[in-house]
Amino acid sequence: MLSSKELSIFAIKGSDKVKNIDRKIQELYQFLDQYKGENKEFFELTTSILQCLKDEVTEMKENISNVNKNISYLNADISELQDQLFEEVSVEDLEDIEDSYDELECKNCGKKLYVEVEAIKNNKVLLCPNCNQNLL
Ligand SMILES: [Zn+2]
Repeated sequence: MLSSKELSIFAIKGSDKVKNIDRKIQELYQFLDQYKGENKEFFELTTSILQCLKDEVTEMKENISNVNKNISYLNADISELQDQLFEEVSVEDLEDIEDSYDELECKNCGKKLYVEVEAIKNNKVLLCPNCNQNLL
């Protein structure tokens, strides 16, 4: 999957290309304008195609700008989430969590489970969430 940074680069590149197309359409329009008097039918046909292209390009530009806006909102959301994540769970916290859990295999169904060490010590019967029998 593309990261949000890569996505924004992609979107900006797309918008540069659109700008180019827009400019080229304008150039072609000006070029054709010289032949307006020579072949009216040809001129009208090609300029109507160009108009369609210009409309499409305008729509694409709007879409790209919306996508860029959404990406920047998403970026802000992700940064906020990352800040929250790294703030609340430190490596020490994770090690503590690991230390207080033990991997067990259910005696009945063989399912591997992480069970709190305290719970294993203090209970003779613990129900397996998989088979609903005593896993100890
Ligand atoms: Zn079981």
